[in-house]
Amino acid sequence: MNIVTTTEVLSLLNSGIDRVTSAAVELRHDVHRNPMLSGEEGPTADRVIAALDVDDFQVAAETGRIVRVGPATGPAIAIRAELDALPVREQSGAAFASTNGNMHACGHDVHLAGAVALANAARKVELPVALVFIFQPREESYPSGAKDVMDSGVLDAHDVRFVIGVHVHPDVPLGSVTTGAGVVNAASDEFRIVVEGNGGHSAYPHKTTDPIVALAQIVSTAQTIVSRRINPMNPAVLGFGSLRSGNAANVIPTTASASGSIRSSTADDRVTIARELSEVVRLVSEANGCTGSLTITHGEPLLSNDPLLVEHVEPLLRGQGLDVVEPMRSCGSDDFSYFSDVYPGIMMFLGTGAHRPGLSLHSPDFCPSDDMVGAVAKVYAAAYTAMLELI
Ligand SMILES: [Zn+2]
Repeated sequence: MNIVTTTEVLSLLNSGIDRVTSAAVELRHDVHRNPMLSGEEGPTADRVIAALDVDDFQVAAETGRIVRVGPATGPAIAIRAELDALPVREQSGAAFASTNGNMHACGHDVHLAGAVALANAARKVELPVALVFIFQPREESYPSGAKDVMDSGVLDAHDVRFVIGVHVHPDVPLGSVTTGAGVVNAASDEFRIVVEGNGGHSAYPHKTTDPIVALAQIVSTAQTIVSRRINPMNPAVLGFGSLRSGNAANVIPTTASASGSIRSSTADDRVTIARELSEVVRLVSEANGCTGSLTITHGEPLLSNDPLLVEHVEPLLRGQGLDVVEPMRSCGSDDFSYFSDVYPGIMMFLGTGAHRPGLSLHSPDFCPSDDMVGAVAKVYAAAYTAMLELI
């Protein structure tokens, strides 16, 4: 597409968004008032479809919905919005506060309403390339909704070329947005260790092999994996979250177990940490006369922003009146990466600002203003338009 047409598309989308934003804000209030937890998003999905007024949609991962707008065939650009809420008791004081004990404390109500606003605006515009809206379930829990949407194969029919994600964020100032080429979020895996020994009486330790002593050494030895096996320029985490063993003060138990979380920022480091942890578990257990086993459950892949997309999207974000500020990078994770692992993608954090120090996503008083619905829609629109030049 030539640049003039691209500019026209964005200005048509922007004015369309302005026309439909009040209805999208109403949708946001409804969804916020009745938040549904991960896996139970059916009513939210139905409300989204009703707000879109479309007959033609696909179901993915049970409570997810896929809606295509624009040309029925040919390439498409995908937009991801999440449907689920959290088991958090709301303390925002909003007039539309939750009534069921759960809360949209991660801004997903704003994302889905922004996506609906863009979809309804886009339906009135002759789009050069289709938009595919992914309303995904279970972002906040395992098994990941994004992974299940990908595994379901529903997107295969859409010739998706790029994928766009936006997340509101209180650490980013109001009126600002972050992009950032390269790694934005770490890959996230969980592990479980079981050490087995021969239990017995605490007074006769020489007749036992003590799994507690072995596990304690595993916990401390594992600390050297990140500090001595990983390039210090690459962020990584290996942390233990639970240790379990024994029931009595005078009994050496037969098993000890632990679980924890691994975060890595390169594909190689992900493999290295898993391999080294496996060695530590095996060798330290053996050295203590025990046997140890390690199970790793792979979670979200690395979330990386495509550099070419970032380069194209940033000027249009500025054109929308936003400041593009220092990227947000963390060892946190977002299952958007299951999409961006397959399709070149970009995840942007749109600033809400914070009404108090320490406010974070998932806080019981994190409730972005209604203005963020239109703002999210316009970030999606800018990213979509920027990507037209690359198809
Ligand atoms: Zn979220």
